[in-house]
Amino acid sequence: MGSMKDKTILVTGASRGIGAAIVRWFAAEGANVVMLARSGDALADLSREVAQAGGKVLAVEGDVAVHADFEQAVAQAESTFGGLDILVNNAGVIDPIARLADSDPADWGQAIDINLKGVYHGLRTAIPAMQRSGGGTIINISSGAATSALEGWSHYCASKAGVLSLTACAAKEYGPQGIRVVGLSPGTVATDMQVAIRASGVNPVSQLDPSVHLAPEWVAKAAGFLCGPGGADYAGTDFVLKSDAGRKAVGLP
Ligand code: NAP
Repeated sequence: MGSMKDKTILVTGASRGIGAAIVRWFAAEGANVVMLARSGDALADLSREVAQAGGKVLAVEGDVAVHADFEQAVAQAESTFGGLDILVNNAGVIDPIARLADSDPADWGQAIDINLKGVYHGLRTAIPAMQRSGGGTIINISSGAATSALEGWSHYCASKAGVLSLTACAAKEYGPQGIRVVGLSPGTVATDMQVAIRASGVNPVSQLDPSVHLAPEWVAKAAGFLCGPGGADYAGTDFVLKSDAGRKAVGLP
């Protein structure tokens, strides 16, 4: 415990699922945690929970698709906690699940605005803040969909492939300045997103038995690993948690 003492982390998509698990893990390890998501009530509930457990947390209601909202979150991290050390670009959506010819162009574009441009907004805002702090770690939550095609998920696969490319580009540009940029591909995780996927009945992922999904807490632990010395080997690539090697590296069964 306490491995993240005095570090400041910004977590997007913090209101539930993987993001909320990352908030709880880093707060328990002593980090100052800034949370960004659209659901203010859920953020307020999580703030109370973390504060009651002795954690230091700040909620910022906002949309990662809006660059100004990201700038607001980073500015609050700097003014409240004195800098930014870690960003987890976790916010993401699976909707609209639809084959290409049936997809709604506006909804398809909104998924790109959140899943891909949201990560760009995070990089664009956090990198200058980390340059001011003298370095940092940016974790982009990826997916097996970044490198494989799944029916009904063209928006999701294309956005996650784009995120993998952003991870590689950002690592090349800023690794030499002490900013580690790394992807985290978690495998399937027991969250609301998998409930929506199962309800869709589209493609093999929707047929998975819920018992095979990983716990969100495992992803949080993997994020902690990627911030430590072992994470350096994965800069510019996706660390794959569901592999035997990935789980072993993190110390999971
Ligand atoms: P989830 O339970 O649906 O939670 C998604 C989170 O993203 C929520 O906190 C949501 O908060 C936030 N979010 C969505 N749009 C946002 C926006 N425009 N601005 C700010 N926050 C936004 O999903 P999850 O399973 O935890 O997924 C988290 C990440 O893991 C995603 O990037 C997803 O692609 C990735 N992932 C998940 C799995 C899986 O099996 N679950 C597998 C691989 C990768 P608000 O609605 O309050 O804004």
